[in-house]
Amino acid sequence: MTENNTDQTETPYEYSFEYIQKKLEGKKDSFGMLMKEIVRTGICTECGTCAAVCPVLEWDDLTAQPKLIGKCTGCGICYNQCPRTITDPYMLMGDFKTGYVANTNIPEVIGGQDGGTVTSLLCYLFNEHLIDAAVVTMKDPNKPWHPIAQIITSKDDAIKSSGSIYSHSQTVEALMDAVRQDFRSIAFVGTPCNIDAVSKMFDSPTGMLKYFMRCHVLKIGLFCMDSFAPEALYPFFEKGGIDLLKVQKMNINKGKFHLYYDPQGEPVKSYTIRQLDKFKSSSCNFCTDLTAENADISVGSVGSGANKNTVFARTGIGTEIMEDAAEKGYIKIEPFNAINLNAVLFLAKLKKVSQYTIQKRKVFIVRDTDEREEPRIETKPEVEQVAVKPALGARKFISAKKDLIEEDKLLNLSLTNTIGYVLEGMKIRVVTIEELFEKRPWITTIKELFPFETIEIGYPLDIGEGEPIKANILVEASTEAFGKIFSRTFKLAPKE
Ligand SMILES: Cc1cc2nc3c(=O)[nH]c(=O)nc-3n(C[C@H](O)[C@H](O)[C@H](O)COP(=O)(O)OP(=O)(O)OC[C@H]3O[C@@H](n4cnc5c(N)ncnc54)[C@H](O)[C@@H]3O)c2cc1C
Ligand code: SF4
Ligand code: SF4
Ligand code: SF4
Repeated sequence: MTENNTDQTETPYEYSFEYIQKKLEGKKDSFGMLMKEIVRTGICTECGTCAAVCPVLEWDDLTAQPKLIGKCTGCGICYNQCPRTITDPYMLMGDFKTGYVANTNIPEVIGGQDGGTVTSLLCYLFNEHLIDAAVVTMKDPNKPWHPIAQIITSKDDAIKSSGSIYSHSQTVEALMDAVRQDFRSIAFVGTPCNIDAVSKMFDSPTGMLKYFMRCHVLKIGLFCMDSFAPEALYPFFEKGGIDLLKVQKMNINKGKFHLYYDPQGEPVKSYTIRQLDKFKSSSCNFCTDLTAENADISVGSVGSGANKNTVFARTGIGTEIMEDAAEKGYIKIEPFNAINLNAVLFLAKLKKVSQYTIQKRKVFIVRDTDEREEPRIETKPEVEQVAVKPALGARKFISAKKDLIEEDKLLNLSLTNTIGYVLEGMKIRVVTIEELFEKRPWITTIKELFPFETIEIGYPLDIGEGEPIKANILVEASTEAFGKIFSRTFKLAPKE
C-alpha cells in the first residue's frame, strides 16, 4: 500500500456522498421530509432509490418503505434522489432569463403593495405607447375589499389599481371584453392561475385566442401562495372587530395576514395564515405555481426586503421591458442574488409539495349508541331547535344523495360541501315525517366540513321485518354563520 493510499480513508463512493452532502448543506431536505411528503402521502413508487444511496437506510419489504437502520445525519441525499420529490430550481419556479430586485421610481406610486413595480411597469407601458389597455383588479366600490377586474387605459387608472386583494378576480372576463372592444395591445395583470388561463387560450390547439392575431397580450404575473373566499373571510374579520371600510391595505408577510387602517403605520390586526386556512379558496389547495411560471414578467415580494419586489423576466419582451423601464427611470433595479433566490425556492417548494399532502377525508356516522364517532364530530340527541337565519343568497352550500343500504334498514345520506371554503359547526338534522308530525329527530354537529368533502350519515329507518318501506325523511343543515343552508325531503318508497 502506498503512503498516499494509507491516508486515503474514504472510498470513492464515500467521497461522492460527502461531496453531495456539502452541496446540500443549508437545505432543509431530510429523510423526515421524504417520509412526510412522499411515503406517508402514498405517492412513493417503491423504487428503492433512497435506500440504495444511503448507508443507514434499507428497504423494508414488509412495510414496502425505506427504513432507518442507523443514525440519520439529515443530509437530504435520499430526498434529492427520489423521483417523486421536486427539487430542481427549474421544476420549482420555471424558466427565466433575468432576476431582479426592483421597486418604483415614480413618487405617486410609492405605497403600492410592495415595491410598486407592477404599477410602475403599467405607467411605463402607457407612457411609451406600448399598450392600448391593461387588465387590472380594483376594489369593488359597492362591496368593501371585493375584487373587480377592470380594463384601464391610462397611467392615472394604473396608479389607482395598485395594491393586492387576496381573492380570486375574474380577470379573463375583462380581457375578453378588451379583445371584443378591439384593443390590440393589452397588459394583463393576474395571479398564476389567471396567467395559465390566458396562456392556454393562446397556446392550446383549441384556445380561443390562438388565431386572434390582432391581439397581443403582455402577461404580468403576480406570485401567489393562496387566495381567500371573501364571503367567509370578511365576516370573520368583522367578527374580530375590523371595520372593512376603514381598511386601507391587506398584506401577507412571513406567514401572517396583516390588516392596516393606516398603510404607513402598524397593522390594526394580524392573523397567522394557519388561522385563516379554513377561508382559503379550495382551488388554492391544488395549486402548484407560486411564481406565475407562464408569465412574461413575474412579480412578487418574497425574497426581497420591505418595499421591494422580486422580479423574473421570463421572455425576451419581458426582459426588454424591465431594462427599458429602468433605463427610462420608471423603476429601480438591482441584481438578484442567491439569497433572494433561495427564499423563493423555499416557498415554491412548499407550494409544489402541497399537492401531495391533500387527503380527501370521508366520515361515516351511524346513529348507534354503541358506536363512537370520529373525534371531529359530536353526535347527540336533539335538545333544541336550531336558530334559522336566512341563507346567503341563492348559494348552494350542500348537495345530498341518498342510498338505502343493509336491506333497506338504513338510509345512507352523503352530504357534500359544494362551497369553496370550510363550513364550521354545521348542525345536521334528520327527521322522519309522518302525517305532518316529526318523528325520531336527531342532530349531528360536524365541526368542520372541508370544501368538496363528503360526509356520510347512516340514519336507521324504523321499519319492521317484511314491512314495505314508505317514509318521508327531512334533512336540514345549518351553521351559525349562515343559518339554514340546506333543506330537503327525501321520499322513500318500495322499489318497483
Ligand atoms: C391573491 C394574491 C396572493 C399573493 N400571494 C403572494 C405570496 O404568497 N408571495 C408573494 O411574494 N407575493 C404574493 N402576491 C403578490 C404581491 O401581493 C404583489 O402583488 C406583488 O408583489 C406585486 O407588488 P407591487 O408592489 O408591484 O404591486 P402593485 O404595484 O401595488 O400592483 C398590484 C397589481 O396587482 C393587481 N391585483 C390586485 N389584486 C389582484 C387579484 N386578486 N388578482 C389579480 N390581480 C390583482 C392590481 O391590479 C395591480 O395591478 C400575491 C398577490 C395576490 C393578488
Ligand atoms: S443520512 Fe442522509 S441520505 Fe441517509 S436517511 Fe438521513 S437524510 Fe437520507
Ligand atoms: S426514492 Fe422516493 S419513490 Fe423511491 S422508494 Fe424512496 S421514497 Fe419511494
Ligand atoms: S394559489 Fe393558485 S389557484 Fe389560488 S389564487 Fe393563487 S394562483 Fe390562483
